[in-house]
Amino acid sequence: MRVYELARELGVDSKEVLAQAEGLGLELKTASSGLDDESAELLRLAFSPEEETSPGVAEEAEVPGDTGTTVLAEVEEEIDTTTEVAETAPGATAEPADIAIATFTRGASVGVFAGAIGQDPGEVVKALLEVGIPAGVQQAMPEDKIDEIAERFGYIVEVVEEEPVPVVAEQPEFEDADADMATRPPVVTVMGHVDHGKTTLLDTIRKARVVDDEEGGITQHIGAYQVDVNDRLITFVDTPGHEAFTALRARGANITDIVVLVVAADDGVMPQTVEAISHAKAAGVKMIVAVNKMDLPGADPLRVRTELTNHGVITEDLGGDVPTVEVSALNGDGVDDLLEVIDLIAQLEDYRANPKPEASGVVVEAQLEVGRGPVATVIVQRGTLHQGDAFVAGPISGRARAFMNDQGDRIDAAGPSTPVQIMGWADVPAAGDFFEVQKSDKEARRIAEERQQTEKAEARIAPSARDRLQGLLENLRSDDAQLNLIVKADAQGSLEALRESIGKIEREGGKIQIVHTAVGGISEHDVTLAEVTEAVIVGFNVRPEPKARRAAEEAGVEIRTYGIIYELLDEIEQMLVGQLAPDEEEVVLGTAEVRATFKVPRSGTIAGCYVIEGTVQRGAKARLLRDGVVIHDGVVSSLKRFKDDVREVQSGFECGMGFENYDDIKEGDHIEVYVVREVART
Ligand code: GDP
Repeated sequence: MRVYELARELGVDSKEVLAQAEGLGLELKTASSGLDDESAELLRLAFSPEEETSPGVAEEAEVPGDTGTTVLAEVEEEIDTTTEVAETAPGATAEPADIAIATFTRGASVGVFAGAIGQDPGEVVKALLEVGIPAGVQQAMPEDKIDEIAERFGYIVEVVEEEPVPVVAEQPEFEDADADMATRPPVVTVMGHVDHGKTTLLDTIRKARVVDDEEGGITQHIGAYQVDVNDRLITFVDTPGHEAFTALRARGANITDIVVLVVAADDGVMPQTVEAISHAKAAGVKMIVAVNKMDLPGADPLRVRTELTNHGVITEDLGGDVPTVEVSALNGDGVDDLLEVIDLIAQLEDYRANPKPEASGVVVEAQLEVGRGPVATVIVQRGTLHQGDAFVAGPISGRARAFMNDQGDRIDAAGPSTPVQIMGWADVPAAGDFFEVQKSDKEARRIAEERQQTEKAEARIAPSARDRLQGLLENLRSDDAQLNLIVKADAQGSLEALRESIGKIEREGGKIQIVHTAVGGISEHDVTLAEVTEAVIVGFNVRPEPKARRAAEEAGVEIRTYGIIYELLDEIEQMLVGQLAPDEEEVVLGTAEVRATFKVPRSGTIAGCYVIEGTVQRGAKARLLRDGVVIHDGVVSSLKRFKDDVREVQSGFECGMGFENYDDIKEGDHIEVYVVREVART
């Protein structure tokens, strides 16, 4: 084991371990030095509560989550070899007498690594080249070169895992005795870009399963199904895509153990692939990459793997820990291998639950069915569901009069990880609701009633985005909470620049976590992700789609957009000190869609529009948006209904619109009309 690993286990800094080791006369030099079992045990003893930690060291403990660097004054004199290293290192800017420790998140880019060790990215790229690795600034820092390169610059680097982003609401935590726990099947969700083959893969897996059911039940689509691999079961959530995944997570339900990320080999990493990666990381679940469509002549699996490294997903063959399987969902090639890998991970992780108590779980799908009333599929997470059990899910109660498995067979008991479709609900529950069996019908009804009352009360005091931001800011002011950000920008270049600058704020001590970055307008997905991760969305030269804006308003998610980089950075810094005080607020009046364009002598280009939301007004400010990206920001200089000049046009009507001194308008563009209002400082 290495020093930093022990440090992590003990919940202290590597430098504390090093200092302690020195006191014990152990020869350990850096955070990455190896430790034998005996020394590790000695150190564990030294850190056990009865023992005093060496004075003067503990006080220097780094702020948790701080990714900055700390000079290790205590140990520096003793580590004479590092002095030599620093002297022989070309281009080392650290003082020869200083050896510094930096932390670096596994899988982050060469640029981030350079920042962590206080070097110009170019220098690190050069150093990597010198050791035979051509890598760009954006590429993932090769893990096996971290120590070597860091040492050249007089640093020792502690590699840390990315911290999972906290989920807003959580399911109750149960404390089960170890003896009661039993192995349960893993629950798998398939995610990836549209058309990359998620549905096909789920269908192929379902069909490939040998139905050894004697009654010959017909396979039902109930929202989840189980397959048999090596006499062990795997549960698949049958709604592909991250809508289902995030919708569940937005309600605090995390049912997935393993995400299968489907990437088409002929298409590579696409925007929703990146979103899926962000979601999986935020949820802290295991990931397997299925490189799909291998049957196509244009399949290029290596490209897929290389592209994935740019997003912090390092596949096993490239030295990382993410398993990859090449498949064709269409003809079934490789699908068995994929199932084997899932089974292997399940065995390694040994997912467990207590099957004994009353059942609890999560609703994954629900609807009203003619003749059957409300039905809902629940994946049991803990305990066992029995026929006749009374239950409650969210504000809805019920009694499990009958339930059936994914083959349409009536069953009378269902244990952990089993999906069952249940009849006997008082009303239709919502996907993501937590399901819990109660002692009696009466108790179930009482709880449901109570929740209905609370929901009504809460609906009246739904927090606005402003309240929510205020809450976040107060948190930032008061404790170690971090600012979670989702960053969207108009182009890759500006996104990189932003990432770099935000990284700099972070290194200077800001508690920031970038949850997701992508090029393009702000979408509903971004809003859902922001909701589950309590993030603020910042956009540079991009705007939210109308749907996303409404969703954000409903969920109380803060979206802030900017046209100037330093304003964006400035506000982030203000958010960090918990003092964002906007004195201007923008109000979107309406949005129109451009359906045709006309050249009019002397007036330039006029857009034939249809107002899709709100109203548009002459003289108001307006942005021209193309795929959510701000193309132009100006003023509505002309507004006409037929031949007449008008002041205002409402939604549902057509109009002609022109910008002052601007002609590059295209069919399909959106025009967002807005005003800026003064608001009182908060
Ligand atoms: P989803 O949007 O990710 O669920 O993608 P679908 O499963 O609907 O697949 C999109 C298209 O890709 C469909 O036309 C599929 O037939 C096709 N497709 C899916 N998997 C494969 C594959 O392995 N090979 C080929 N050639 N086509 C595939």
